[in-house]
Amino acid sequence: MVIIYAETWNKKFKKTTFEAVNYGARCSKEIGTEAIAVVFGECDSHLADLGNHGADRIIHIQGIEQFEPFSFATVLSDIAKEFNGKLIIVNGTANGKSLIGVMSSLLSSSAISNVTELPVNYEPINVHRSAFSSKGIEKCSSKSNCTILGIVPNSIGIISLEDIESIIEVRNIISKGKTIFGESQNESGNVPLPEAERVVSAGRGMKGPENWGIITELAEVLNAGTACSKPVSDIGWRPHSEHVGQTGIQINPQLYIAIGISGAIQHLAGVSRSKTIVVINNDPEAPFFKAADYGIIGDAFDVVPRLTEAIKSFQK
Ligand SMILES: Cc1cc2nc3c(=O)[nH]c(=O)nc-3n(C[C@H](O)[C@H](O)[C@H](O)COP(=O)(O)OP(=O)(O)OC[C@H]3O[C@@H](n4cnc5c(N)ncnc54)[C@H](O)[C@@H]3O)c2cc1C
Repeated sequence: MVIIYAETWNKKFKKTTFEAVNYGARCSKEIGTEAIAVVFGECDSHLADLGNHGADRIIHIQGIEQFEPFSFATVLSDIAKEFNGKLIIVNGTANGKSLIGVMSSLLSSSAISNVTELPVNYEPINVHRSAFSSKGIEKCSSKSNCTILGIVPNSIGIISLEDIESIIEVRNIISKGKTIFGESQNESGNVPLPEAERVVSAGRGMKGPENWGIITELAEVLNAGTACSKPVSDIGWRPHSEHVGQTGIQINPQLYIAIGISGAIQHLAGVSRSKTIVVINNDPEAPFFKAADYGIIGDAFDVVPRLTEAIKSFQK
């Protein structure tokens, strides 16, 4: 079996959840087995949508609402044991990443993160992953009975599969006494960052948290996620869930707008896969301009509100 963690955000499936389910379903077809999607807690999305993306069976775990890595990993590992899981698919979101290590320990299985393609082989599992801050591709082989794959959101895409009549099963975990409640992951902005098609990001050039209004307003008109550089989250101007780069989240949106960010190599490591990069910086020598598709040399406090107004009038 292939087990997929069907992540929700604000009680709805993320776009990347469908990508993970679709990925798992495509693997299950290659192996000649079935795909099981596991959903936790109250969910306002239609569970059947997971079936439309290839899940043969959907297990809805009730009585566990907030994300907590150990409880979620325990439930997923138990399901993997019950169904003789060969592969477990998890998205490389903040929550997904925190599950991979725990499940690997609980199941004594291999775990491969940053996966960007379908496996090349299944006996043993051979798969490519991005490595060295997306500068290289590593070929990995797993010989364990069960392998956990963490896939990079937005890197694989979704293909339509033939219609499947999936079975929906509800399980109540509280009755088994396994639930441990914890704090949920703090994600800010209207759009979850790892799956955002457009991202507006800002750095120390914004001078202070009180100036973020112009960033969030631009993000709103573009229906974009918001991100920031590491020092900005380190000093508490923005939450850590927005920190992108080598030590933060790695993203690959269609559009990345970097405002008042110098473009250090560690920052670029997390955003260089973006399809189009726009840089706004008042220093013409800022390194980010070398990685930019479009650059605006100017003061963010002047350029950003004008850009927002221009987009608003274009949308009318
Ligand atoms: C091991 C390691 C890991 C790291 N991991 C990460 C990581 O994951 N992500 C990350 O971001 N960093 C990371 N860093 C830090 C990184 O090296 C840089 O220090 C950091 O990215 C710089 O952040 P910044 O561009 O916001 O700030 P700064 O370097 O201070 O740059 C601010 C920029 O704003 C511009 N600016 C100033 N005023 C204005 C204005 N009014 N209008 C327009 N532009 C203006 C300036 O010209 C400048 O280019 C890491 C460092 C190390 C050593």
